[in-house]
Amino acid sequence: MKVRVADITEKEKVLESRSPATDYPTLMQVQEDGACTFLEPIDVTLSMVNEYGHIRVKGRVETSIGLKCSRCLSDYTADVKSNFTIFFTRSTGSVEEDEVELAEEDLLSVTYSGDELDLADEIAEQVLLEIPYKPLCREECLGLCPDCGSDRNINPCACAEKQATMAFSSLRSFKVKQ
Ligand SMILES: [Zn+2]
Ligand SMILES: [Zn+2]
Repeated sequence: MKVRVADITEKEKVLESRSPATDYPTLMQVQEDGACTFLEPIDVTLSMVNEYGHIRVKGRVETSIGLKCSRCLSDYTADVKSNFTIFFTRSTGSVEEDEVELAEEDLLSVTYSGDELDLADEIAEQVLLEIPYKPLCREECLGLCPDCGSDRNINPCACAEKQATMAFSSLRSFKVKQ
């Protein structure tokens, strides 16, 4: 998603776009790696303003992804919603200043050069931040039984109980032997 710098003035400009995840190479890479599946296009709303020599972009990204629960291995769907603010400052050409840095209050500060702002990387980055490292279908997911493999959310098995009883009886026999 590219915006001409000259089009961004002191008057706030709002842009909306809806484009398929295939437009974002980084997102496609994540999908290929199996972290998630993009189920909906990426909805983006940006409001941009040129103030005090830098460009402030307030944005919102929304989409829907398919994930696999890391505990019970079931597939589930999650909504991705993220708000962000990025300050674009024109590059002075020095390498140090060109590095992206996380400023205070989680505001991103990015340098740009040329006549256009390319927001695709920043948008993809915001989506990536929302993809859980250890997905859970729900906070209290019971996961699969390590002994019999059954999904304890659907089919609670007695393995844990049995083990506790066995541990208890072996402890008891141990005491008897003493
Ligand atoms: Zn689960
Ligand atoms: Zn079991």
